[in-house]
Amino acid sequence: MTVLLSFNAFTDCARFPSSWRTGKLCLLVETNQGPLLIDTGPGLEDYARPPAILRVFQAITRVAMDPQEAAIRQVVRLGYRPEDIRHILLTHMHFDHCGGLPDFPWATVHVHERELDAYRGVTRHWANLAYVRRHMAHRPAVVTYRVTGESWLGLPATRLPFEPEMWLVPLHGHTPGHCGVAVRLGTGWHFHVGDAGPIGLQDYAPKWLVRTVLGPLTPHLQAFAACHPEVIITTGHMWLESFAQPAG
Ligand SMILES: [Zn+2]
Repeated sequence: MTVLLSFNAFTDCARFPSSWRTGKLCLLVETNQGPLLIDTGPGLEDYARPPAILRVFQAITRVAMDPQEAAIRQVVRLGYRPEDIRHILLTHMHFDHCGGLPDFPWATVHVHERELDAYRGVTRHWANLAYVRRHMAHRPAVVTYRVTGESWLGLPATRLPFEPEMWLVPLHGHTPGHCGVAVRLGTGWHFHVGDAGPIGLQDYAPKWLVRTVLGPLTPHLQAFAACHPEVIITTGHMWLESFAQPAG
């Protein structure tokens, strides 16, 4: 049976409406190569010395700024040693998804090559403002992935070198190389679509705003969800209340 754990790595709440309280979803999958972390949330240094983009978030939203939410604290809470985490897979490289990389300097980073290019400034996009250079300053080992012609449930995807079966699913738009991750769960799947869709894929905000911030894929993901009830879909930011429940 697949062991898939989740935790909230970044509490961020809207000032209005005040009921919009979200956490950043990170997943931990037990694989044949040890526990694999999917996204990290901000790292300890981000709480001690917030980068400019985090200070913007602090100004316009209510951010918990609690270092206990950092992934390195959370994996210990889940019963792992930090050095057990040898592999970290990223949906994308915004500060709130990869800021914890320096806390796991021994871990190999797995990411789509287009995302790494965007992070390095090769491709330009307004959302690149949320990349923070120091998050890769420790020069971790990196494995990049690209389109291979394979597909997962009809979506172009790249098979990842882990068991249980996992796929990196390009969902570009929120960032140039943003991807989702599919993890086999028995007869079904867990599909984490990162920041490519709104929470629960519901349209609770104006379509133009969702499209601008999250990219153009929400309607496609909604159609995919309707066709695949066997797939549990999660997004990068979830309602805070949902973290009381296990993700998988
Ligand atoms: Zn993002």
